[in-house]
Amino acid sequence: MLTVETKLAELWDSYGKVQNERQMKLYARWARSCEHYILMRAIDQIIDTSYKFPTLAELKSTYNGMRPKRDSIVIDPENVCYWCQDTGAVPAIDTDPVHGDIVRMYGCKCSSAMSLSKFHLMHPNGQEKYMGRVKELKGFAYPQAIQIIFRELHTNERVDV
Ligand SMILES: [Zn+2]
Repeated sequence: MLTVETKLAELWDSYGKVQNERQMKLYARWARSCEHYILMRAIDQIIDTSYKFPTLAELKSTYNGMRPKRDSIVIDPENVCYWCQDTGAVPAIDTDPVHGDIVRMYGCKCSSAMSLSKFHLMHPNGQEKYMGRVKELKGFAYPQAIQIIFRELHTNERVDV
């Protein structure tokens, strides 16, 4: 496993920067408190995409953006809720009198919805009107299938499945 110091040195090297011990210490002090593999990925991403050496704030922001949103909950890909993908929100295509067809989010019936605000209404899982097409799109999770159907409604082009 790469140490934090080795990885940070890689960052300095990538930008052709001479290592400054005090600056390095500052970065390392923060970096040691990070989740190791996410930090490694964050540094890789910066090296791959940023044209200039990142400030500590930029590094922190990239790192924070990569952390799982709900890190207290272990996500088990086998057990992800089909309807909401564990986001707690299920999309539905509604017809708005002004805007026509729109996608609205509803609270899922599963336990993930517990974290959502009460402004989300419970949605009976699955929109009957579109379930035939959803079944054809069986390679996709429900929220993706609804997005595809929504696009199909607007473009009149069907996605091949
Ligand atoms: Zn759910």
